[in-house]
Amino acid sequence: MKALVAVKRVVDYNVKVRVKADGSDVDIGNVKMSMNPFDEIAVEEAVRLKEAGKVSEIVAVSLGEKKCEETLRTALAMGADRAVHVETDVKLEPLAVAKMLKAVADKEQPQILLLGKQAIDDDANQTAQMLSALLNIAQGTFASKVEIENDEAVVVREIDGGEETVALKLPAVISADLRLNEPRFVKLPNIMAAKKKPLEKLTPDDLGVNTAARLTVVKVLEPKARQAGVKVANAAELVGKLKNEAKVI
Ligand code: AMP
Repeated sequence: MKALVAVKRVVDYNVKVRVKADGSDVDIGNVKMSMNPFDEIAVEEAVRLKEAGKVSEIVAVSLGEKKCEETLRTALAMGADRAVHVETDVKLEPLAVAKMLKAVADKEQPQILLLGKQAIDDDANQTAQMLSALLNIAQGTFASKVEIENDEAVVVREIDGGEETVALKLPAVISADLRLNEPRFVKLPNIMAAKKKPLEKLTPDDLGVNTAARLTVVKVLEPKARQAGVKVANAAELVGKLKNEAKVI
């Protein structure tokens, strides 16, 4: 059984991004970039499924600029078998990504398609859902547990106030949530070995997908600065402030 895992190169989660002076976007020039954290979890899950004998081959896919190759090498070092890079300098929207992932899936015919629940740069949380709709196959989003049995994936989903368990007929799209697993630390020998693993290059044209933007970003603003807190001497003063200043009790 083949697994396809989508990995996006995003601004590292430790970086505090700044808004460009003209308010057109965030400034990501010269900031550290890494694999989207939820995609690391997706890769880890695919590797665990392979180690458990449920998956025989893992193909990692990334779409974007040349440096996505680094992200794919990380996925290969974690345990993916080969990589596909769809190279483009166009800023991609979730629909274009989903269409290209569909085209790759049509070619590769994976039984399991693993994505992150959301990319931490655009926070769209759309690609997995769009991909499942385009492929007309089942989806299990926000997965916190995945079990594969024969032609079914049993997925525990994180939902508001609890968990939901769904059984999906394979092939299916699964999006990884935070609690699904803890990704492994990649060791140096694996990083070296990953350099020799195959990495195929494609373009959006090869896949017949129009990547032209459909959305316009109107304005990007910094979040409002939070007011500094105050220290109170005792509970009575706190109650007084909550009553008379904050007026919340
Ligand atoms: P989003 O819908 O943008 O929040 O992204 C959800 C998931 O789709 C990510 O966690 C990735 O698994 C996948 N994805 C989005 N954009 C890309 C991309 N450019 N390359 C590879 N995977 C992507």
